[in-house]
Amino acid sequence: MTQDLSPLAAMDQAHALHPWTHFDSFETEGAVVLTRGEGVWLWDDAGRKYLDAVGGLWCTNIGLGRADMAQAIADQALKLAFTSTFVDITNAPAARLAGKLAELAPGDLNRVHFTTGGSTAIDSAYRLAQYVQAARGFSGRTHVIARKQSYHGSTYAAMSIGLRDGDRVPEFTYKSDTIHHVSAPILYRRAEGQTEAQLTDALVAEFEAKIAEVGAEKIAAFFAEPIQASGGVLVPPQDYLARMAAVCRKHGILVIADEVVTGFGRLGAWFASQDVYGFTPDMICCAKGLSSGYQPIGAVIFSDALWDDMRGDKWFTSGYTYSGHPVACAAALKNIEIIENEDILARATRAGALFQEGLRSLSDLPIVGDVRGHTLIGCVENVADKATKRAFPDEVDIGRRVTHAAEARGLMVRPLGALNVMSPALIISDSEITQIVETLGA
Ligand code: PLP
Repeated sequence: MTQDLSPLAAMDQAHALHPWTHFDSFETEGAVVLTRGEGVWLWDDAGRKYLDAVGGLWCTNIGLGRADMAQAIADQALKLAFTSTFVDITNAPAARLAGKLAELAPGDLNRVHFTTGGSTAIDSAYRLAQYVQAARGFSGRTHVIARKQSYHGSTYAAMSIGLRDGDRVPEFTYKSDTIHHVSAPILYRRAEGQTEAQLTDALVAEFEAKIAEVGAEKIAAFFAEPIQASGGVLVPPQDYLARMAAVCRKHGILVIADEVVTGFGRLGAWFASQDVYGFTPDMICCAKGLSSGYQPIGAVIFSDALWDDMRGDKWFTSGYTYSGHPVACAAALKNIEIIENEDILARATRAGALFQEGLRSLSDLPIVGDVRGHTLIGCVENVADKATKRAFPDEVDIGRRVTHAAEARGLMVRPLGALNVMSPALIISDSEITQIVETLGA
């Protein structure tokens, strides 16, 4: 136990099990108790101020502390705090938000199934994919393919679809016989002399081979984050996703874009799949930036074509008490209105260029092996040897050490193994970007 924890941190340490608890550090250091947020700034219970380069958890897109968001949430809570949206009941914000998401989503993605967050959006999309395939007469299509180094959430199914080594602890078991993984597009660690185009060719060939091995007639869907965020901010070659999607089309495999992180402006577009990477998925899973974290909410946005095929005399037996929660939907609607009225997508694109340029200025530092990112998502990969790209041994715990050093200087960046990842609020100012870069460099 630490001696100088605040009363709240001590209470937390005595009673709470945090998501992804690292027992050693939790028992020695406790948690930072945050009490206030404004824009990209946070304050803890000792009054210390931090610049939040993480954006909460890739999610506070419009920034914290907005009175108009608080008002929209309060108004809806007073008017109608809850109705379920089961069967044939709904509420005004849920109906409006479904319409708004249909307007914003690409192609014929005009149907919306609300969830409580990102993991439940992935679970629901997984179910929906199998349901549609069965309705189309392909009840044997129950398998899915995803990528290594992907993170799709923490419910049992979402965690099984994702595959980050560190998440696979032996005490939990994971479904594996119908979930398959192919390599992630990792440009930094591609083979010596391999071009981006050759890497893409190799990944597409591996995908085709995996489909042949499993049997296309058994595969319902392919899950892909446009940029694999928690897997290490893996920015793919520009045409990789469109080519993977084309392979799916050829084999009757549904394409599910996990835009939980990349949606709602993080890459300067409402959705990255079509606007940034040039493919239209069959379903988009979103959460996080959908409400900028002001309320927990997620959604699966799917195509009219899927809807037409899934209709029949069957029930769609999936959903949550808080699907289409009126207060969460009201928050998401206000969040979208703010993004539109304040031209936040364009602001993100402009700020993102400065952010990427600033981060790349750290490339010459002795432990920085790679700097990568896109618009307002970025990452620094720390290595023991720049020339050979040799990683630090695990016990050096370099990402966490950098994070602690940054925190002592009033900057929050997230450690991910040897990496430090960032996704600040999209309203970040130029001087705040400079402060991130300078502090991280120091
Ligand atoms: N998908 C991606 C790409 C994510 O990054 C996350 C969370 O970080 C999830 C899904 C799960 O979302 P949630 O934590 O809201 O369940």
